[in-house]
Amino acid sequence: MQFKVKNTLVTLVQGDITGQDTVAVVNAANSTLLGGGGVDGAIHRAGGPQILEECKKIRAAKGGCPTGEAVITTGGNLISRYVIHTVGPIWSGGDSGEDQLLASAYRNSLRLAAVYGIKSIAFPSISTGAYGFPTQRAARVAVDTVKKLLEEKNSPEEVRFVLFSQKDFDIYSRAWAEAIGEPSLP
Ligand code: ADP
Repeated sequence: MQFKVKNTLVTLVQGDITGQDTVAVVNAANSTLLGGGGVDGAIHRAGGPQILEECKKIRAAKGGCPTGEAVITTGGNLISRYVIHTVGPIWSGGDSGEDQLLASAYRNSLRLAAVYGIKSIAFPSISTGAYGFPTQRAARVAVDTVKKLLEEKNSPEEVRFVLFSQKDFDIYSRAWAEAIGEPSLP
């Protein structure tokens, strides 16, 4: 699925975020920045030890990365030049500011990309794995937040959503279809 939001090409693909050819990939990290499972583990495995080295330096300088914020490192051995590490919220029922924190994670990742002049960026489905955020609701937050930013700001040439499963791909595709006013996909 692909379409334009103002000047930005938005693409959705099913696949592995570590194989993307975007200038940056976003990692669904945790606040320690020391690596974990899911996307985080996959990125560190594929990108090699240089990423963790830089994460440790950031940790030493500022104690990690609070929920909703983002930091940037090299992409190590990845095709991507940079990894933007952001921390999504842990789901705890939906009334603890989870939507706002998830929106911040997307917003701060795009902000950092703009600071570094990054022309293309790939996002995974932040918070919907180990952190338990319901995917449909997370997709709505991701789509609304990214769409609003692309409409308002100087934006990258491409924003790609990389969904690991066909089910997640369908959920994000439907959320985008609704947001851009296309008839909902079957
Ligand atoms: P979080 O802790 O933020 O929930 P996870 O990494 O546990 O992050 O999961 C986030 C999403 O990333 C889930 O939908 C999971 O299926 C997906 N995922 C796991 N590995 C990869 C990968 N290599 N590429 C893209 N998405 C992945």
